[in-house]
Amino acid sequence: MVLPVANPTKSYWIEAAESPLRDFRSTEELPQECDIAIVGSGYAGASTAYWIHKYTESSAKKPQMVMLEARDICGSATGRNGGQLRPHAYSRYLPWKERFGAEGAIELIRHEMAHLSAFKELAEQEGITEEVCLKFGETFDAAMTEEAWTRLRGNYEAMRQDHGEDDEFFKLIKLIEDAAGAEEFSQMKGALAAITHPAGQIWPYKFVHAILRIVLEAGNLNLQAHTPAKSISERDANGWITITTDRGELRARTVIHTTNRWASHLLPEFSKLILGERATLAAIKAPEGFIKHTGAQHWDQSVNNYHLQLPSPYNAVILGGGRQYTVHMPEACFPNDEEDKQVPGIADFFQSWPTSDVADWPTSSLPELARDVDDGGCWTGMETSVIDSFPFVGPVPNREGHWMAAGFAGHGMPRILLSAAHNVPKVLEALKFEQKPPSLVANYPPLLAPFHATPERVERLLRTADVGALAKAYKEKCEMSAVKAFCCDERSKPKI
Ligand SMILES: Cc1cc2nc3c(=O)[nH]c(=O)nc-3n(C[C@H](O)[C@H](O)[C@H](O)COP(=O)(O)OP(=O)(O)OC[C@H]3O[C@@H](n4cnc5c(N)ncnc54)[C@H](O)[C@@H]3O)c2cc1C
Repeated sequence: MVLPVANPTKSYWIEAAESPLRDFRSTEELPQECDIAIVGSGYAGASTAYWIHKYTESSAKKPQMVMLEARDICGSATGRNGGQLRPHAYSRYLPWKERFGAEGAIELIRHEMAHLSAFKELAEQEGITEEVCLKFGETFDAAMTEEAWTRLRGNYEAMRQDHGEDDEFFKLIKLIEDAAGAEEFSQMKGALAAITHPAGQIWPYKFVHAILRIVLEAGNLNLQAHTPAKSISERDANGWITITTDRGELRARTVIHTTNRWASHLLPEFSKLILGERATLAAIKAPEGFIKHTGAQHWDQSVNNYHLQLPSPYNAVILGGGRQYTVHMPEACFPNDEEDKQVPGIADFFQSWPTSDVADWPTSSLPELARDVDDGGCWTGMETSVIDSFPFVGPVPNREGHWMAAGFAGHGMPRILLSAAHNVPKVLEALKFEQKPPSLVANYPPLLAPFHATPERVERLLRTADVGALAKAYKEKCEMSAVKAFCCDERSKPKI
């Protein structure tokens, strides 16, 4: 049983946003009943509420929703992530092909890429593009070693071989094979080569707060911050599911679990399938417009950094990864739920990045955190680990009236919006609400098989789930990286 820890470290996104919805409660008292209870107010919960609103906008009777959030609104992974709206455009092609075949792999890529146009359309329709700092451009994977280049290039070549250069996505992916070109494009010192493709960046916390504001204005959402759902019942003979909180009970016709890492608190059958993995980031002061592209540096399969720069007036670089440093302390990452603690010494490592990794970082701009270290300068978050690397979306097996969209792990931005859109019409149909698909969903691919929370998938995973073995394998992988030269310079070695 696991609930979000109280007093998590403070993230730049949350502190700098200064949102009026941060601690919002629509009513002083918890409502007693509703049609749809959504547990969790991150990107999955907010998208679910948004799609319910869009599907029933013109209906005579709209479902009454209540959203319960254990922390402040959007106070967990979505408020603490890297802000990268960066599909796996090619870089997972080989492992996905091995599991799902060449067609299955390309479909997964299409689903992720579709999120770029979905975000663009949604933000334009709602007039929130600037508010949520949504930007599109080219991103890069910079290979910092031959090992990384072999892996990245191998995925690219295999995709080209299977799908040809005529594939619409393939045309968008470019190889920069010479080191000078890679360094110039990526601004990363020492990049040997790079692969680029379209991607976006966003302020995820502001996005969630913006779409929640839109749904609140529509009038059928009751939002309740600081209200953890402590326990939940099965659906009773009268069709009600009861959620118990410290502020009283709420009964709902249907419950949608959008609780990410913490899904297993209310659904213990997921306790071996969705696990606590902690990651860390920092916000670094940078000259306006200095970093041109979002991107990632890769050394080996465990060691990477990723970053973006926010537009003016914020200008901060959001830097994540820090794996040259954290591979020395695997237990600080997985399994680990200590979101109320910093990774000791990581702030110094992040602060050394501009001068050690970025070409031509101006000497006039000594690397400094954008806020005090414990006030949003550096933070931790539950990146979450899912046993087969795909989230669970759809009706919860063997629990009538319960639905879920949880376990999106460290790669949710190009997955969640359209996953949530998949659940909503089915939930509305089950509750017999009149609905009309919004124009926004018309052109997007359906949810793919690896995402579905089928009883067969859950049973199969439970038969082999071994958390101890996973932790051991994770530790061994970190140890293998920790002795490589790129993890052994002075700044990468923990001082404690
Ligand atoms: C450090 C870090 C960096 C990341 N970087 C990126 C990135 O750059 N790009 C990318 O695509 N993805 C990234 N991710 C992953 C991405 O942030 C997640 O996949 C996504 O935010 C998950 O959204 P969610 O709504 O499912 O989860 P969350 O945002 O975690 O929302 C779940 C909510 O449920 C609440 N909750 C849980 N249990 C209960 C309960 N019992 N009662 C009430 N409320 C409850 C939680 O408090 C939380 O607010 C990163 C994640 C982390 C942590």
